[in-house]
Amino acid sequence: MDVTPPRSPLLPSTFPLPPFAQRAWGGAVASGEWHDWRWQLAHRVTSVGALLDLLGADFPVAPAMRAALEQAGAASEVSVTPCYLALVRPDDPRDPILPQVLPDPFREEELEIAKGVVNRYPDRALFLLTNFCSTLCRHCMRRREWDGGFTRLTDAELEAGVAAIAARPAIRDVLLSGGDPLNLPPSYVGKVVRALRERCDLDLLRLGSRVPVTLPMRIDDELLAELAPAAPLWLNTHFNHAREVTAEAAAAVRRLASAGVVVSNQGVLLRGVNDTADDLLALSRALLRAGLRAYYLHHCDPVAGVRHLRVGLARGLELIASLQGKVSGLAIPRLTVDLPGGGGKVQADGPYLRERHGDRFVYASPLTGQRIEVDGSEGSFAGAGSWRAPAGAAAGGR
Ligand code: SF4
Repeated sequence: MDVTPPRSPLLPSTFPLPPFAQRAWGGAVASGEWHDWRWQLAHRVTSVGALLDLLGADFPVAPAMRAALEQAGAASEVSVTPCYLALVRPDDPRDPILPQVLPDPFREEELEIAKGVVNRYPDRALFLLTNFCSTLCRHCMRRREWDGGFTRLTDAELEAGVAAIAARPAIRDVLLSGGDPLNLPPSYVGKVVRALRERCDLDLLRLGSRVPVTLPMRIDDELLAELAPAAPLWLNTHFNHAREVTAEAAAAVRRLASAGVVVSNQGVLLRGVNDTADDLLALSRALLRAGLRAYYLHHCDPVAGVRHLRVGLARGLELIASLQGKVSGLAIPRLTVDLPGGGGKVQADGPYLRERHGDRFVYASPLTGQRIEVDGSEGSFAGAGSWRAPAGAAAGGR
């Protein structure tokens, strides 16, 4: 008996089923079970793994992407009826069905293995201890986490976070971040780093902190005594301008080094802050004098409300090139771009750059191989001078 409904010339049809669906459910269509809603409910696809297995070779997924999707699926429910999944056309790069049912592999909330612990890459975990920073940077990509007030993980949440990392031996690299973890009480920080060292088999234990820049006196003996037992630690700090590299900041970096903390710099290229060749050269030289390697310079993420701070990607590359021959390679940072949609971090002019047309840069995601377009256009910023009252105007006057 042919139970396939008649096709309408005006509307698309589920039939004929795409190959993956025919393989999985051709028998149910032939028997007529396909048209029974009870059969459909009973045969829902309820895991990312099952869904990807069904699509099979029709929808090849890189192992890293599959791992990320499965992790995301473990943290949020997945459920699709066969008749809806059969609408997927795996060869359509803009298939409108899959994004509606597959979890976003890069939404941090969905990759949380414990509160504050994000396991986006198989070998790495981001441990977000607090959302507090003593100085809030306008260009911060975590700005949305300031909403609702400042908090830190409780002792029970810390314990659960360490246990979750310890339970995953594949995690070999933990980055303590926030907010700024070094704004927390030293005993709290010490407890976390010691627990991670004692209970997890890590190659790398890192801290992301702007405290050496914005609160250098916090790097005191009390804090160093808490950090030293967990050495070696790596700390990425965030100097953006030579004027920030003060004697006090340099002394904080030296104190950290004396406790076994290796410090590097990851700045952000910002319009009106460090976007001239002279600014960058002065920053690089100041970092060397303070004993810091210029590791990364980040292209400003497209965080809402900071477009005015963005330097065009092409100009960013020219600025980095302007350092060549003027300063040691240790002080020439790599310009990096965080690909939209969680595509991963890439060097702006590195091997993942596929095409460049004016302000349009196309990269291959290092995670998925997918082509991702980046708007490399320049923001517009009148400069800090425009915030000043005109000469002669009374302070606070109009
Ligand atoms: S210090 Fe870092 S985490 Fe804190 S506001 Fe600035 S950029 Fe964001």
